[in-house]
Amino acid sequence: MNANRELSRLSGWGNTAPSMCHVVDASGLDTIRAAIDESNARGVIARGLGRSYGAPAQNAGGTVLLMTDHGDSSIVLDHMTGLVTADARVSLERLMTELVPQGWFVPVTPGTRQVTVGGAIASDIHGKNHHVDGSFGDHVVKITLLTSEGDVRVLTPNESSSEFWATVGGMGLTGVILNATFKMIPITTSRMRVETSRAENLSALMAAMQDDRNYRYSVAWIDLVAKGTRMGRGVLTRGDHASLSDLKSVDESSALEFNPKTLLSAPPIFPTGMLNKWTVSAFNELWFRKAPARVHESIETIGAFFHPLDGVRQWNRLYGRSGFVQYQFVIPFGAEDTLEAIVQKLSAENCASFLAVLKYFGKANPGPLSFPMEGWTLALDVPAHGGRMAAVFAEVDELVLRAGGRHYLAKDAHIRPDAVVRGYPRLQEWCEVQQRMDPRRMWQSDLARRLRLTTG
Ligand SMILES: Cc1cc2nc3c(=O)[nH]c(=O)nc-3n(C[C@H](O)[C@H](O)[C@H](O)COP(=O)(O)OP(=O)(O)OC[C@H]3O[C@@H](n4cnc5c(N)ncnc54)[C@H](O)[C@@H]3O)c2cc1C
Repeated sequence: MNANRELSRLSGWGNTAPSMCHVVDASGLDTIRAAIDESNARGVIARGLGRSYGAPAQNAGGTVLLMTDHGDSSIVLDHMTGLVTADARVSLERLMTELVPQGWFVPVTPGTRQVTVGGAIASDIHGKNHHVDGSFGDHVVKITLLTSEGDVRVLTPNESSSEFWATVGGMGLTGVILNATFKMIPITTSRMRVETSRAENLSALMAAMQDDRNYRYSVAWIDLVAKGTRMGRGVLTRGDHASLSDLKSVDESSALEFNPKTLLSAPPIFPTGMLNKWTVSAFNELWFRKAPARVHESIETIGAFFHPLDGVRQWNRLYGRSGFVQYQFVIPFGAEDTLEAIVQKLSAENCASFLAVLKYFGKANPGPLSFPMEGWTLALDVPAHGGRMAAVFAEVDELVLRAGGRHYLAKDAHIRPDAVVRGYPRLQEWCEVQQRMDPRRMWQSDLARRLRLTTG
């Protein structure tokens, strides 16, 4: 068994002491079973590529099973149905590299390709197409899961639906996903037909997003520093997979080419505090002005449209040594006043976030811990160098919960246990299934302990 020890930081705010966990490269079923047998009372958690922002894949004092691909994990595509069966370790980047040239795209992609199939299911990830296609779990027809008893179980949304939906969005706390079968999207080119427009304030932006249903993909960047009549101004980007006839300068033989290369590297060290209200204001002004004042159409690569941050190696260094905190919530339609109050609050506090993203979600799926629900979702990141942001987020938490909203567990380093109880009304139902699936209380993580997900 290939194992090492690593430091696990318990909070995203960067002010708590890190502690050790035991990391095992889970290269086969025997290794996983052995790691479970040898684990201590702090339990075990699976980790994919570690791209979740808080600590759902960290387990201080316990074991972390590293479920990552060494290039040899299997991907089997049925060309007739578009169903792919992939090892849970396989990354979305590898799926795209192998399947885009064959005319298939993943059903849902987050803002990075560096996530595994296991991580995509456990967080029930959403993308720019949630309002049309739902989240990753909506496309999964079969999950093969290793339970804490060491049994391999096949879960489907029909025959074993409560276990299936407890695993979708279940943050790794129902077992280790070994592989999954899900439906891919057929494409004829690897390019995106994109429409970009800008809106002068939040009301104009939300009004423009009303016709999102006409586009498969949609997302808005929002300026959280702008104030007064410009508060909540943003740039709206919408689009769909381009067809061959959309591509004027690309010949048919290269229409499905996919190149996942990184273009830039962030400088090794950025001084902490470099991202502040002045630098973020300047960046946001430039970003807003760079967007065309009138609707502009363009053809973009998959990387440029979906994963701009993947083009910059170690982009997280831009936040300096103390890092940053991600924060994402959703509030239901009808609570637009609350969204406006939150944006106003963040703007008044000079929230130094240059990566704030507003999106609108379609229908929720049956997963009790799945994050998306019909409504508006705002994701932002702020530098983690103290200041008032923790207190500001606590106030925003309350506004979100009072409006009937909730927070995204895969991006959480901040909320308190009662925010999960209030935000996820079917938490108790999930807990009952989870306890049935894990009577030994084997699956544990720093996130689960902090939010008391498995202990009630
Ligand atoms: C730049 C960036 C952009 C992002 N954009 C989005 C976005 O647009 N939408 C979105 O939804 N998310 C987004 N995310 C978050 C990311 O998609 C999720 O956190 C995803 O779960 C990460 O996958 P991973 O393989 O790295 O899993 P990890 O971070 O390693 O783990 C995440 C969870 O999955 C569990 N898990 C992992 N593998 C397994 C397995 N084999 N069996 C059981 N459980 C497992 C872990 O226990 C943990 O609970 C973004 C993250 C980054 C860094």
